Amino acid sequence: MRRGPIRPAFWLVCAWVAAIAVVVVLVLDAERNALSRAERSATAMAQVIEEHTARTSQSVSLTLAAIADAWRLSRPAAHDAAFRGLLRERLQDLPYVRAIFVIGPDGRIAHDTDYPNTPAVSLADRDYFRAHREEPALKRAISTPMLSRTPGAGWFVSLTQRIGSDEHFEGIVVAAMHPGYFESLYGRMRHGQDELIALFHRNGTLVARSPALPSDIGRSFTHLPLFSRLESDPVGSYAVEHGHILPGRRIVAYRTVPGWPFVVHVSYSRDAVLAGWRRSALGAAIAMTALTLLLAGVIARDMRAARKRRAQREQREQAERMEAMGALTGGIAHDFGNLLGVIGNSLHLLEAGGADARAQALGMARRAVLRGREMTDRLLTFARRKPLEPRPADLNALLADAHPLIAQALTAQIELVLQLAPGLPLALIDVSQFEMAVLNLVVNARDALGGRGRIVLRTYADAGGAPCLAVEDQGPGMPEAVRRRAMEPFFTTKGAAGTGLGLAQVYGFMHQIGGALRIDSKPGAGTRVHLCFASTSAVPPRTPATSTPRSPSR
Ligand code: ADP
Ligand code: MG
Repeated sequence: MRRGPIRPAFWLVCAWVAAIAVVVVLVLDAERNALSRAERSATAMAQVIEEHTARTSQSVSLTLAAIADAWRLSRPAAHDAAFRGLLRERLQDLPYVRAIFVIGPDGRIAHDTDYPNTPAVSLADRDYFRAHREEPALKRAISTPMLSRTPGAGWFVSLTQRIGSDEHFEGIVVAAMHPGYFESLYGRMRHGQDELIALFHRNGTLVARSPALPSDIGRSFTHLPLFSRLESDPVGSYAVEHGHILPGRRIVAYRTVPGWPFVVHVSYSRDAVLAGWRRSALGAAIAMTALTLLLAGVIARDMRAARKRRAQREQREQAERMEAMGALTGGIAHDFGNLLGVIGNSLHLLEAGGADARAQALGMARRAVLRGREMTDRLLTFARRKPLEPRPADLNALLADAHPLIAQALTAQIELVLQLAPGLPLALIDVSQFEMAVLNLVVNARDALGGRGRIVLRTYADAGGAPCLAVEDQGPGMPEAVRRRAMEPFFTTKGAAGTGLGLAQVYGFMHQIGGALRIDSKPGAGTRVHLCFASTSAVPPRTPATSTPRSPSR
């Protein structure tokens, strides 16, 4: 009974531990998935931007080559309107280029889409110009970001093309590429506030970034891990804890643009990537907490209920014990009171009566003493205080010997049937108490039958091979409440006609000789009382009669 609520609680706790483990695994897996999805997405985005950057640079480069060819064909005078028209026409096709201009060999601007706002400055000192003038082999170049000398034009990256032959330097065509164009394009491509798209020059200088921060353009970012990785891995991704362009932990993907000195960079904030996951994990944690509390509540309730049931059972058992003791004391007091009454009357008669009355009184007193001895005998047997002498005996032979005594107690309308199994091992039995026990059981069966019917005395070997006797009747049987208490001394349902000591004697006797007593009875199903004895495991010398129905009346 005590283990009842513990077992389900144990399995509940096991299920709970398993559920927690599964949820933890799922949550960790979901985090890993979210991170790797973000890395894949950043890589894909970097690839798109890389291709766009390559195509953009390519088309600018082709345009400059075409302009250089056109210049060579016509060799137009400075600020020739028709040639400027050609430049402007070409500029229209290149939204990421702010201006196209031609610098003469002296470093002065000869043709310009900004004309007439062309600044009257010499560009002979610009690195990109000097590089072409001093390096005949350099046909095409891309600069790092520079601040324009045209007022208000801001940052640009120059893409330049040499004009003229190897021997004869005739100047360069310049396309001023505009970081703002890239920044607004990246701004449209970004998924969220925390995503950073940036374009670097191969030497670590920032060309454009979104979200835009003008003060970052032209700054060197060679300290970023991607610039130390580029040599071995032109394409890659990594996670960084801190110290990136934007603060916090980030997931970074980068790609060099093949054929061009650009590096594309895309990075996501780890916090933003895991925001959705965090919400689910929090939900799971709340659900698991709720489940835990619920489980704890259920287990606590079960344990409380079990404790209560135990307390109630103990209370009931205590009450039953007290009632049994009351019945026992009451029974003894009542029976001895009766006997003392009889003896008292007898003494009175002995004192005062005549000779006849005195003889009768002596007889009454003697019978009362005998009944008192009989009662104490039974009580002592129940209390297992009566010295017994169990000896190996053949159960079947004992029953045959006890038959006349038993028959005496029955009426003519009751048939007594002996069903004796042969070959039983010897039983350890005290013979006189055994006869008394059988008599008590047969009398009970007689009372249950109401004086008419059949009583079977059956011997058998139980599953363990022990010799057993069953006393069976087809009487009304006992309700459970009676069956439970039937062996209590003085428990009787027969009123003044009963002593309540019959089964008590059988019980005490069986216990004292190391046997077992079992009452199998239900209302309407008759009663079978089984006595199983300790055996000496020796086979009896004389084989008993087989099943012999016998009636005492015949
Ligand atoms: P008593 O026979 O004096 O009542 P017992 O101790 O022999 O006392 O039996 C106790 C009670 O058990 C009986 O009063 C009866 O209610 C019940 N009982 C015993 N044997 C049987 C039986 N064979 N069939 C039905 N009830 C029985
Ligand atoms: Mg009885």
